[in-house]
Amino acid sequence: MEIKKTQHSKLDTIDPNNSPFGVNISDHMLICEYENGQWGKPVIMPYGGMNYSPALMAIHYGQAIFEGMKAYKDKNNDVFLFRPEKNFERFNKSAERLAMPPITKEIFLEGLYALIDLDRDWVPTKEGSSLYIRPTMFASEEMFSARISNKYTFAIMTSPANSYYDKPLKIKIENHYTRAVSGGVGFTKCAGNYGASFYPTLLANQQGFDQIIWTDSQEHKYFEESGTMNVMVRIGDIIYTPPVSNTILNGVTRDSLINVARHNKIEVREERISVDSIVNAYQQGTLKEIFGCGTAVVVNRYSHVGYNDNIMELPTLKDEESYAVLLKKQLVGIQTNELDDPFGWRI
Ligand code: PMP
Repeated sequence: MEIKKTQHSKLDTIDPNNSPFGVNISDHMLICEYENGQWGKPVIMPYGGMNYSPALMAIHYGQAIFEGMKAYKDKNNDVFLFRPEKNFERFNKSAERLAMPPITKEIFLEGLYALIDLDRDWVPTKEGSSLYIRPTMFASEEMFSARISNKYTFAIMTSPANSYYDKPLKIKIENHYTRAVSGGVGFTKCAGNYGASFYPTLLANQQGFDQIIWTDSQEHKYFEESGTMNVMVRIGDIIYTPPVSNTILNGVTRDSLINVARHNKIEVREERISVDSIVNAYQQGTLKEIFGCGTAVVVNRYSHVGYNDNIMELPTLKDEESYAVLLKKQLVGIQTNELDDPFGWRI
């Protein structure tokens, strides 16, 4: 792998510990180009623009996928990744569904390790902060035919991040718009899934909600995901979460929290969650917590849930009573090397 180091680090002007999510991109990026049926040599180079025209096929036909993961620094300034193979595997699942070439494990993981090593000074140390990592692949042929591209660019970029959304959110159960349909691309991290979610989210924002709980496309009766997170519901002392399917992204945080919860002897059921069962539990006083989970925020609790014209106000649990708080603390403890890692997830 070729490494071209920058002569002008931006660390003179940017403080990684005070950097809003996703705004400041670190000094280096990894680039690898695919052409003539094969991947070329990966190169780590100074972060910056690339020379593409507006005829780029990714822009017109949407062959564009990405991943989101994080690096963490512990008290000794050692840097850790969390289950990066999961992101590598999911990236190639997305690639397959979008008819894009798989990236090799060597380019993805060895490239990632080299890039993070080079930019390790960008990994923040402040509590709750981390270095967000964004691998991406997009069709880079330039022409107007609606067909599979023959050229692709794979890139990895990173950006220091404070944790975002930490206040309890107001969430709307969406009963008109749909994030994903059976047989579609909901299980992938393709760019179009996000573009298509913005308008319904904007409408929800205008109605006073922070985010959406997506429901199934056929009846809008079952929970799918929440915003760009998986969703978990606590009724009594049991956590329910929808099973992953071809309409639900297989979240690394979701899987990790299920394992952490079971390790704490908390019962977790991977079952479809109907809106009716939520309303019933709310009326009976057994609906204790609903929270989203994903890499960016780890766990985000919800305070209010809107459905049709009604608002369900969730109980305000003390931190020591909340499963969301317990699970977040333990997962972050594993990620940042403050707690033992009985699962072998830290790298
Ligand atoms: N669902 C969607 C649609 C997402 O974009 C994300 C974020 N990648 C998640 C769930 C959570 O996945 P993860 O825990 O792997 O970040």
